[in-house]
Amino acid sequence: MILKIRQVGEPALRQNSRRLSLEEIRSQSVRDLIESMRETMHDAPGVGLAAPQIGVPLQLVVIEDTQEAIQKLSPEQAAERERRPVPFQVLINPVLTILGRAAAEFFEGCLSLAGHTAIVPRATKVHVEGFNEHADPIIIDATGWYARILQHEIDHLQGVLYIDRMNARTFTTMDNHMRIWKDKSIAEVKQALSGEPA
Ligand code: ZN
Repeated sequence: MILKIRQVGEPALRQNSRRLSLEEIRSQSVRDLIESMRETMHDAPGVGLAAPQIGVPLQLVVIEDTQEAIQKLSPEQAAERERRPVPFQVLINPVLTILGRAAAEFFEGCLSLAGHTAIVPRATKVHVEGFNEHADPIIIDATGWYARILQHEIDHLQGVLYIDRMNARTFTTMDNHMRIWKDKSIAEVKQALSGEPA
């Protein structure tokens, strides 16, 4: 079932989500929820969806980044983002640790802020521990775009949106992003929107 994705301003997006018990993870209702979230993410389409985005305050996210989606970028853009396919994945009760100090800035969007995007700094390396849909413990060490997706989705479980972390001057409608900024470097975009003379 395709679910309605909540948009910014709805309190559901700003609440802390609760952890699931192992028993709950194995329940039919959570299995159905995961399937609906997978369908909703594909339909959107998006590379991740967190339960609060559909109004469910549980620590549950789904992620998938496909070759098809990555091919919408130029090979250079995909390479600088370190964007590689991530098979469909369910992540429950995740705990994220940032590794090292390296960070990267890229435009990032969110299905709950439809039609907008901004440059968001994110760590490039993270470690995540949690559970999969079978209630098995899982450990993920991720770099590049996958690390960005994990930080974005796990933020949702604490009621945090990318607008809380963005370079606010770079916030733009998607139309203007496509028209003006899409093929510019991050440094060029930041300079042009800084208000400072070039
Ligand atoms: Zn989001």
